[in-house]
Amino acid sequence: MNVLEELKKFREMDIPYSRVLSSMCTVSHEIAIKAHQLFINTNLGDPGIFPGTVELEKRLIEMIGELLHCKTPFGYICSGGTEANIQGIRSARNIKTKNKPNIVIPKTAHFSFEKICDILRIEVRRADVDESYKVEVGEVESLIDENTVAIVGIAGTTELGQIDPIVELSKLAEEKDIPLHIDAAFGGLVIPFMDKPYPFDFINKGVTSITIDPHKMGMATIPAGGIVFRDEKFLKSLEVETPYLTSRMQFTLTGTRPGTGVASAYAVLRALGFSGMREIVKQCLKNTKILVEEMSQLGFEPVIKPVMNVVAFRSENAEDLKSELYRRRWVISTIRNPKAMRFVIMPHVTEEVIKYFISELKEVMK
Ligand SMILES: *Cc1c(COP(=O)(O)O)cnc(C)c1O
Repeated sequence: MNVLEELKKFREMDIPYSRVLSSMCTVSHEIAIKAHQLFINTNLGDPGIFPGTVELEKRLIEMIGELLHCKTPFGYICSGGTEANIQGIRSARNIKTKNKPNIVIPKTAHFSFEKICDILRIEVRRADVDESYKVEVGEVESLIDENTVAIVGIAGTTELGQIDPIVELSKLAEEKDIPLHIDAAFGGLVIPFMDKPYPFDFINKGVTSITIDPHKMGMATIPAGGIVFRDEKFLKSLEVETPYLTSRMQFTLTGTRPGTGVASAYAVLRALGFSGMREIVKQCLKNTKILVEEMSQLGFEPVIKPVMNVVAFRSENAEDLKSELYRRRWVISTIRNPKAMRFVIMPHVTEEVIKYFISELKEVMK
């Protein structure tokens, strides 16, 4: 058998995005795929060989900086939100130099922080959230001590799409002189394109770094994550010497790294512009509303009124429904507290997909 035929057979075992209602990734934009192909042999780990790709990354970071209200952003395109969060916290730890460092994060933080506390050997303190699943600023304050090297706020929680009170967290961070890292892996490319965007970014003086992933709502090809710092000293604190490459120092976590994420993310933002992104986000929010209406007719209530295109519906038998749907090749996810079915309404989750899904859910519920 031809090897490509063999590969196709494996690929056909995968579930197509048109049946996936739980992923924060989506079908890459067609311009992203073209850009990806153009840059397929690039390696930003050896920048002297790829000055063009390096320049493109610089321009993309500037574009992201503009979106995040930062005139002189310092950062790079990495493997995803996990690496971006690691680097954000690692830089804060390096700058603050404490013997027994700790960080204070919301209980709703992404599981990448489990890896961070393991890799960086720092204590992770989890602050409670209020009834709307936003972190309690008073709780955060009470968990801070002289060894706290960073506070984390989330702009678009993975489970519910909620936004923490970042304005207040920023004031607290400034007052205590502690770096504030914002995990906007998902929300970073949603919130700025909403009608009344919550001020989650560098507009707040206390915010020192932001995670923002083009391979989620940015419709770039995987992998494309982003980490942006307000101040160069954070990036510098990550540097190691590189004895045999074309560069002298490297601040990235990975060595060899693709230019494809840079090119595809840049292509989407340039081709669509901020106005095109606004249209995409508008459509996703409209479809989220449609899902909420359809689900409420079936008796399901959202855990919180959706803030963005992430929504969870309370259901005692969420797990059973998920399993039965998966048997029929539909992918949704669940959350445990409270028990709920979770959906992410990405650009591929169209009104047609939602209607089809709802008809199948009705079957399953019989
Ligand atoms: C998706 C996500 C991450 C992790 O990003 P990866 O690209 O999967 O590494 C981190 N934080 C939040 C809030 C996310 O939604």
